[in-house]
Formats: sequence, C-alpha cells, structure tokens
Amino acid sequence: MSHTIMPVRLGQILTGKVVEVLYNGFGVVMLNDYPIRMANAFTDETVKFEITQVNRKFARAEVVGIIDPSPDRVEMGKDYLLDVGIAPYVNLRYEAQLKLKQAQVKKIYETAGIAATIAPTIGMAHPIQYRNKTVVPIKYDGEKLVTGFIKRRTPGEILPLTDYYVNDPVIDQTIATVRNILNQHQVTVFDDDTQQGAMRYIMVRRGYYSHELMVVLVSQTATIKDEAIIAQEIVAVVPGIHSVVLNHNPRSLHLLMSGNNRTLWGEDVIHDTLLGIEFEIGPNSFYQVNPQTTEVLYALAAKKAELKLTDTVIDAYSGIGTIGLTVANQVKQVLGVEVIERAVIDAQKNVANNHVENASFITADAPEQMRKWQQSGIKADVIFVDPPRRGLTNELLDAVTEIRPKRFVYVSCNPETMARDAKYLIEKGFHIKGDVQPLDQFPQTAHVEVVTVFEPNN
Ligand code: SAH
Repeated sequence: MSHTIMPVRLGQILTGKVVEVLYNGFGVVMLNDYPIRMANAFTDETVKFEITQVNRKFARAEVVGIIDPSPDRVEMGKDYLLDVGIAPYVNLRYEAQLKLKQAQVKKIYETAGIAATIAPTIGMAHPIQYRNKTVVPIKYDGEKLVTGFIKRRTPGEILPLTDYYVNDPVIDQTIATVRNILNQHQVTVFDDDTQQGAMRYIMVRRGYYSHELMVVLVSQTATIKDEAIIAQEIVAVVPGIHSVVLNHNPRSLHLLMSGNNRTLWGEDVIHDTLLGIEFEIGPNSFYQVNPQTTEVLYALAAKKAELKLTDTVIDAYSGIGTIGLTVANQVKQVLGVEVIERAVIDAQKNVANNHVENASFITADAPEQMRKWQQSGIKADVIFVDPPRRGLTNELLDAVTEIRPKRFVYVSCNPETMARDAKYLIEKGFHIKGDVQPLDQFPQTAHVEVVTVFEPNN
C-alpha cells in the first residue's frame, strides 16, 4: 500500500518483530500495513532498528540490536560481511538457511498459483570458502593500496578485507599478495572523481580440481608501470600461478572488465573439470562460481532428465558447454546454442579437448535456432535450459511447446522468473514432473538455484 503521510521518519529508532525474510534476504517488520526492510533480521525475532530510508511503499532500516533472537541465530562475529553484502545470512544457522530457501520457493510457486511439491534444499557439507572466482576493487587510502569490498550503504567507500568467508582461501591470500606487490611498485589507482590512475580491480580465479590460478589486473590504462616485473614477482610467490593477465578497461561505468585481455605471463586460460570433463576458462568466461554444487546440480538435472542413449538433447543457453558436455556420454547427440560467440568458441574448444564426438555448439538466438532444428527434422527428446536471472522469453517457451520434448529441464537462479515461466508452460499444456528441487549454490547469501522438470500432457 502506498502512503502519503509516512509512518516513520529517518533516524527513528524502533523495535519490532520480524514477520518474514524476503527472497532478496531482507527481514520485514510490519508497522500496521507498512513494511520496514532490514538485513540481518530473521523470522520471529524481535529487533531494534534505525530507519535509514523512507519510501511511500516501504522503509529501509539497519538493525542496531537484537532484543529477542531467533533460535536459528548464531553470532559469527563477522558482521563486516553484512556491511558489504557478501553474506547476508552469515548469522543464520546453515540448516535454517536451507529451510528458508525451500520456504521461499514454496511461497513463490504458491503465489503464482502453481501446485508443486518443493523438496528440501540440497546444501553443502562445508558451506563456506566455496567460490572459485572473485573480483575486488582496489583503492588508495592515502598511504597504501587497499583491497576489499564496496560498502552497501556508501558505495564510494571500500571496506578493507582479508577474509571474504565465501572465497577459496587461496584466492583471498592471492589478492593480498598481488595488492602488496602493486603497492611496492607504487602503481596508481583509478580515481572516480578525477578519472585518472591505473588499477581498478584485481580478479582471481582458481580451478577447484586443477588448482590452476589466474590473476587478472584490471586497469583503466592499456599498460601499467613495471608490468613485466610485477608479473614476475607474482609468479615467484603465488603457488599454482598459471596465468597473469592485464585487462584494459578504460570505461568508467558498470562493467567490471572489458573483453580486452593481454597475457603478461603464462597461458591465456586456466583449466578445471566438472564431472570429469575439462573446461578452458578465460578471464571473461562465464563459469559457475561454486564448482562443488555445480557438479551436484548437473548430475541432478541429468538424472531428472532420465536420459537415454538414443536421446537427442538440446542445451539452450549453453555458455561454454558445461551442461551439454557433461551429459554427452549418456545420450546420442547434444546440440548446444548460445548467443555469445566467444562462449561458443570456448565450447567448441572444450568439445575438441575432451574428444567428444556427439556434441556441437552454435552461435545463435536459442528460440530461433531451436525452430531451425525442428524444421530440419531434428526431434529433441530433452531440452535443458539454464538462463540468466531474467528467465526465459515467450519465444523460447513457444519453441519448447512446439517441439514438445519428452522432458524440459529448467535450471534457474531466480525462482520468481522460473515460476512465471512455469505458469506459461502449464497453460500451454505441460505439467511439472516430480518435485521442484532447490539447491544451495550460494551458501550464506540469499540466492537459490532451482531445478524443475516439465513434461507435455498426453
Ligand atoms: N549453462 C551454462 C551457461 C548459463 S548462463 C553454464 O551453466 O555455464 C546463461 C547463458 O545464456 C549465458 O551464456 C547467455 O549468454 C546465454 N543467453 C542469454 N540469452 C540467450 C539467447 N536468447 N539465446 C542463446 N543464449 C542466450
């Protein structure tokens, strides 16, 4: 409901009981019919909070005290993670995180009017230090270079960090090492106000199985001072280093990295394996950031697809070919389609490197290409999709309903768009097969991955 007279004002301190945690991770306290949203506030606990932003429809607040804590609250002593938004659920017991994600998916499906059983969320045994990649900003504090994370409430400021909690700890160590080397060489740092200076971000990715490490120096300038020596010094002290790259990103807006890479030392790519298939991963490659749960996710998607050795399978939105290549040995043929050409080139390399004979990848818009395959007489038995957060377009869903595969396996990182798409498919003559399965790809955060399988009605 929209208000003209605001029920709260900036800076006001109030207490209240949290009624739910929204899908974006914020707890909600209701003041009559007016919601107040805040991080680090869990269902049924009473919290004291300060109003930080007031809108017609809701207010934002910061928790300043826990009056009656939830039994699921565990104080981890890492509230700095909340200030930068890295781990909004750091103080929520892991079992409760999994239950919360299941309940949120259930609510989203219910709200969309879809009858479905939501299975308990599959979690990780060791739900921290799982990320295989990170990009961190680098700034100058007047004396030295600092790396950390942008503060949630003051985006111009950086909170210096050494322990990111969710990263592979080797990545955290590498960031500190690289920053110190840049510091010794007095490399300049890009300044948002003057638009001058070189370094903007440090990106590190590390193969979970291969342990190969890539360091990318993202610079506003095409070269950085002492770059060859800096690369040598990194190589001398970072164990497992496989690649040092300079990413030239002169743009001052939004994108963290450009596509413009120059290798300063080593190979242009690192390698890692997923379900036994080796993938080449470049500075810009989209590669799932939690390699452990990705294997669980893909194995589950393949199992739910009930693949047969006679099946033709489409991997729409195929990226560098991860889903298609990991199921290829279970089917007759895999056809992948992906709109970004560079990703398709990577997928084709991955086909060759793994000597897979029955998979091919093509650069195209997925629904258009799926229609072409259909028109040329190819009958897909199973279609996999793993789309971006915005979900599927009606064109793609229409292509699926025309092809009527035996099974349509939808992997989603956004249950809201997935529920919207599920509704559309159900209206067009499909039903959900089995349980909807949430999976915790991003422990300690509000994100949840979901697999839903659809079959055409008889
Ligand atoms: N399955 C892969 C990639 C998932 S990311 C993996 O898990 O690694 C989603 C991919 O969908 C991105 O690579 C994006 O480029 C691609 N994509 C988005 N819209 C598309 C479209 N209309 N047609 C084909 N691919 C598309």
